[in-house]
Parts: sequence; structure tokens; C-alpha cells
Amino acid sequence: MAVMDVRCPDCHGLNVVKYGVQPNGKQRYLCQDPNCARRIFILRPPTDTGMARLPTDMRRVIERALAGAEISRTAQELHLPTETVAEVFQLLARFTPPPGGVSRQRRTLRRRAAG
Ligand SMILES: [Zn+2]
Repeated sequence: MAVMDVRCPDCHGLNVVKYGVQPNGKQRYLCQDPNCARRIFILRPPTDTGMARLPTDMRRVIERALAGAEISRTAQELHLPTETVAEVFQLLARFTPPPGGVSRQRRTLRRRAAG
């Protein structure tokens, strides 16, 4: 099996392999980047609740949607059909963000994007 599309939270590299499970059943990963200080990590929500299983394109769309990006612009930048991007945006709009969770992240991302 090929390495999954899991990114190290420290170096954001994809040089990551599964590394057993925690006693609570969570998947553990090992970063194999020699320059990375973290090495072993566990994916945190929302990544381990479905994001990790999505194709990279969809994850990029979701990340942009959460960051408040525009549909047409996102479609252009990711070279995806506008309808596809719009579907994901609309799907996300139906979810109620958990208190202090996604909404706080969204504000942070917006502020960062604004400069
Ligand atoms: Zn790493």
C-alpha cells in the first residue's frame, strides 16, 4: 500500500507512515523527514474524522471554503469545475460549526489572509 495523504503537522511533509495505534484506538503516524523534530503524531479532528479520506482536491476546496474564499476564484486556482466547487461550498454551509471550533479557525484564517 502506498503512503496515505497524511501530512505531518510540523513540517507538513507527506513522508509519513502509519505507526501503530494509541491505547484509545487512534491511529499514530511517524514522520520520516530527517529534518523534522516531531516524528510521531496523531491526527486531530477534523482531519481524522473524514478529511484524511477525501481526495486532495476536495480538501483544498474545503480549506478554502473555511477560509472564506470565493467559489469562482477557488475553482480557477485549483483547476476544478465551478459546479464542483460550488457543491462543496454549499455542503459545508449546511454544517453547523462546533462552538469555538471551526468558526474560530475561520476567523484566524481570514485575518491571516487579510494580511
Ligand atoms: Zn514532519
